[in-house]
Amino acid sequence: MRRLLLPLLVPVLAAPAFAQMPVAPQTRSAVAGIVGDIMVNGQAYEYDRQLADTVGPRLTGSENYVHAVSWAEEKFRELGLANVHTEGFTIPSTWEPETPAVGRITSPRLQELHIYSLGWSPSTPSGGVKGNVVYLQHLTSDGIEAQKDKLAGSIVLMDDKSLGDQSAFSQILQALDHLAKIGPKALLLVGGPNGTESATALTFDGSISHFPIAQVGREDTSLIRRMLDHGPVTVEFSFKNRIRKNVKVDNVIAEIPGRDLPNEVVIVGAHLDSWHPATGAQDNGTGVATAIDVARAIKISGHPPRRTIRFVLFGGEEQGILGSTAYVREHRADMASIDCVLISDTGAQRAKGWYLMGRDDEKDALKDVEPLLAGLGSNDTTPSVEFLFQTDHISFDLLGVPTLVLWNDVDKYFKLHHKASDSFDSVDQADLNQGVATTAATTYAIADSSQPFARHDTPSQTEDWLKDTRQWEDYQFFKSAGVFP
Ligand SMILES: [Zn+2]
Repeated sequence: MRRLLLPLLVPVLAAPAFAQMPVAPQTRSAVAGIVGDIMVNGQAYEYDRQLADTVGPRLTGSENYVHAVSWAEEKFRELGLANVHTEGFTIPSTWEPETPAVGRITSPRLQELHIYSLGWSPSTPSGGVKGNVVYLQHLTSDGIEAQKDKLAGSIVLMDDKSLGDQSAFSQILQALDHLAKIGPKALLLVGGPNGTESATALTFDGSISHFPIAQVGREDTSLIRRMLDHGPVTVEFSFKNRIRKNVKVDNVIAEIPGRDLPNEVVIVGAHLDSWHPATGAQDNGTGVATAIDVARAIKISGHPPRRTIRFVLFGGEEQGILGSTAYVREHRADMASIDCVLISDTGAQRAKGWYLMGRDDEKDALKDVEPLLAGLGSNDTTPSVEFLFQTDHISFDLLGVPTLVLWNDVDKYFKLHHKASDSFDSVDQADLNQGVATTAATTYAIADSSQPFARHDTPSQTEDWLKDTRQWEDYQFFKSAGVFP
């Protein structure tokens, strides 16, 4: 808990500079105009409609993703933003489903399965995958070794119980690598209720998995397990995926230059890519729409803040936050000039405030901002680190840059997350505008303050923070795999 004690040990150095970030009366008055404009004239709802309904699903590197990039650039240009451009990075593989998955239980009796290819899975061999199903009891190295002989050459079935209570994603990935060495034909992974594809991938860096992985409906999975209790079960399935290697993917960038401190930057970000079963209206269409409407409202206010606001729409978030890690790699020398990064990526239900991701000092820093948000009902914060490695802020956190992630209600959102129901009709315009207003007010207050927002952590402070929040093991795994710089 060195983080918490540090200001007490060195009060002169650490405490006064960042304890509370002041909000001047003229800042408050500019925020009043910006927030009022968003609530009355806000365009986020229309931006999201265009992105979801017109551009459509935008898998990283796909043709639709390229359309989304052009669409976003055009929006920023129409708004008169400065320095509108793209910055590319290379993804090892793009992936798109080419033919829908079909599959069935072939014995002890015939039954069609609700089945989908998992993201970044190779196609099945021509003629499909056919064979015996073996249920994996424990997805751990010991568990795999215990069933080693049966798993080799079989179709391996996994459900929630196979995962047990292990929560570290790194452990799951390491166990899957172990499984790959045993040489199964394919993996069947339990999904949502029959008929609801819940898109995801079991790689974290845009690479293709070692063997075909399919998602099978929850009820179908239980049926196979009950059949296995009474004898052997065989299944067959096939799907074809379009895979292209080493594809360039663009992040989209635009700026409102600061009036006094143009070299100090506040970043507002979201991810432009989405999954294929839906139009990604909320994951992360509303985040993109939020960034663009914050740009519109601040630009139109005629009050550029002291610092530059940079809007960055990232690609490859769903494949392992690739766009933001590429961004920080490219701009590593500039991290000290980034005052704060604000991300929206938990849907567009009502905003409650901000995720601090374990940075207690940010709560104090926001003291003067909270009165700006009280009337919006979004003046709260949470120290929760539940989503620490799950969106683009983490690329910046790991290099010591202070970040904030918009904290939304998520009860409805997680029912449609990565599913076909993530469409525009799920978006509530009033809730969306309230989140946009929250983001705009906070961004402007930080960018216009006479003082920087919060301290930049040293590598040893970042290490303490990851250990305090119990994320050190996952971080070490991802870092050694080359995901993080
Ligand atoms: Zn997302």
